Amino acid sequence: MTRTPLLIMGGGTTAEDRARLEAAHPSVFASNFDELAALDAETRAGIRAVAYRGHYRFDGTGMDLLPNLEVIANFGVGYDQIIVSDATARGVKVTNTPDVLNDDVADLAVAMLLAQCRNMVAGDARVRNGEWPAKGELPLNRKVTGSTAGIVGLGRIGREIADRLAAFKMEIHYTSRTEKETPGWTYHGSDVVSLARAVDFLVVAIVGGPETEKTVSRAAIEALGPRGVIVNISRGTTIDEAAMLDALEAGAIAGAGLDVFEGEPEVNPRFFALDNVHLQPHQGSGTVETRRAMAMLQLANVTACLEGQPLKTPVN
Ligand code: NAP
Repeated sequence: MTRTPLLIMGGGTTAEDRARLEAAHPSVFASNFDELAALDAETRAGIRAVAYRGHYRFDGTGMDLLPNLEVIANFGVGYDQIIVSDATARGVKVTNTPDVLNDDVADLAVAMLLAQCRNMVAGDARVRNGEWPAKGELPLNRKVTGSTAGIVGLGRIGREIADRLAAFKMEIHYTSRTEKETPGWTYHGSDVVSLARAVDFLVVAIVGGPETEKTVSRAAIEALGPRGVIVNISRGTTIDEAAMLDALEAGAIAGAGLDVFEGEPEVNPRFFALDNVHLQPHQGSGTVETRRAMAMLQLANVTACLEGQPLKTPVN
């Protein structure tokens, strides 16, 4: 009776990824929940798996449009927009794409730290705009190697960031719910204020979602101090963004490198007036190689579900 067991959902799905999913399984596409709701009831009843790609909320209301849903296979490791408790209550499994993106996200975190501390965007502009002969050198910028770095959340990505910063001869401090095996890095429990007080650079790599909202609080930002730099590759929600903006505007911290924002892709315009921030459009995993690996893992989870095999990377 099932004709189209797979729903490909999310306008961000590339043509190549969509074609690969469609070649593997009879599929129907909806770019958003309005389009999903507009599908006829029989088509919706046939759907057993959703290949999901998006940063908009997928809760029980959306799930109830699909009475025979078995799995939501997320494109991405962060699944804070999928309400997992709603899925579990309906017997729906959720999968994500961990590990395959760790390197790229860690690379971008380090790149933003270097770009911010070494004033690389202003340097590029000085050469590109032909201002170098008249204006000469940039004001001296900030040494990165040998500093002290604090990682908020020593998970899969946080660990990769720490390993890279250790190669920059940095002393590593971190917070996590549990102490990790490390080469002697300093553990601060869950105390981000203590972490911030101890370091020059604070790199945020914790998961998003309601439980971690404003983990980097106003107090933690104040504790980081006027030489402190924040890098965030996690989610905009994990930092008190208003407090960070206040601190950046007042020079209470030195700068920030940010790949994620509250309410993105809309970004608080207060950021645009600042010359002590480096801003990126949530592109941590955005390389050809990694996006392909993510797509393959998402497809593997869909296929496992539809063939009755164990899921590759379940989260519930
Ligand atoms: P992970 O290994 O599952 O966890 C990262 C950290 O989050 C861990 O240190 C973990 O603490 C902590 N954590 C998890 N749940 C928590 C809770 N309820 N309260 C407090 N801490 C909690 O995740 P990952 O694979 O490294 O990914 C981290 C995040 O990076 C993703 O969730 C996503 O939001 C973000 N991300 C961003 C991009 C980008 O393009 N910028 C790309 C990929 C991922 P413990 O160590 O104590 O378990």
